[in-house]
Amino acid sequence: MDIEMFGKLSDAFGPSGFEEDVIRTIADYCKEFDVENDAMNNLYVRMPGTEKDSRPVIQLDAHLDACGFMVQNIQDNGCLGIIMLGGFHLTSLPAHAVWIRTRSGKMVHGIICAKPVHFMTTAERSSQTLEIEKMYVDVGATSREEVENVFGIHIGDPMMPDVTFEYDAEHEICFGKAFDNRAGCACIVDTMKQLEKEQASLAVNVVGAFAAQEEVGTRGAVVTSQIVKPDLAIVFEGSPSDDFFISAGQAQGCMKKGVQIRILDNSYISNTQFISLAEEVAEKCGIKYQESVRRGGSTNAAKISVTGKAVPCLVLGVPSRYAHSHYNFCAKEDLEAASAMAANVIRALDEEKIRHICHQDVL
Ligand SMILES: [Zn+2]
Repeated sequence: MDIEMFGKLSDAFGPSGFEEDVIRTIADYCKEFDVENDAMNNLYVRMPGTEKDSRPVIQLDAHLDACGFMVQNIQDNGCLGIIMLGGFHLTSLPAHAVWIRTRSGKMVHGIICAKPVHFMTTAERSSQTLEIEKMYVDVGATSREEVENVFGIHIGDPMMPDVTFEYDAEHEICFGKAFDNRAGCACIVDTMKQLEKEQASLAVNVVGAFAAQEEVGTRGAVVTSQIVKPDLAIVFEGSPSDDFFISAGQAQGCMKKGVQIRILDNSYISNTQFISLAEEVAEKCGIKYQESVRRGGSTNAAKISVTGKAVPCLVLGVPSRYAHSHYNFCAKEDLEAASAMAANVIRALDEEKIRHICHQDVL
């Protein structure tokens, strides 16, 4: 795994609907492949020479977007009212810094603020409820006119958490933002680079599909799956870790315990044949993995799995601590386990195994 690439992907500006910077970063690392984007900010990366390929198609999916905010209104005092693009946990927001991108492309620093404790009534101080309507972003301006005319900020401008990627080489730990799902984006690029030289001998045509707008309702994958028309898919996610609050025996998203195979969540029940193949491959290749049955959550498998003749999806997670907040941790070894799992599953696919997975051995 190219950690410098992962760092650039993590730092890239890309709230839902504004994924252009992430697209450009991926394209920079995919010069050896055929790269194409569409009107929604979805990105397709294909192995060269595969335009007329007749092999079954395996779609590698990851979403490009991350949770962010948009300017909803500008108050007379210069504070920006905001709405969320995606679902942050509200208690993690006040006092954190953001970048606002103006229409001219200028980045403006802001602080998410709520009514300070000094001015709260006793009732407000004891209340636990936070509402996004009562939070603002302060850019240091003193009036609406200044925000609009000097800072150049308009309603509709997007914003993202202000966090800069760092790699702790001693402990092989990544710190940054948007690991949900820049981890998945990095895994697609890494998997395609591992397979590039042997792609002619594979049983499948491997297509990388980076989807926009997952955090606002898995919208991009509706389009990518129609364009790619996959027979099978591998969905990568920067899955939320649970190992910092659940006991070791019960946690299913543990950092440094390998790639997470998601068996079930709110959006998809996995294909048992595909899971069996992945676990056989992991045992054979010595890839660390953990299984997860989620009580909530969803991924792009929600949309990809119900296209065409039904698409079996293998959902692979890179455990990411504090997903959907400003700051994340993940382990280099888990990123590498995810792309090793994908590359080796693809290598192991042949006509018979594809038939097993696509027909579940029922008839
Ligand atoms: Zn995600």
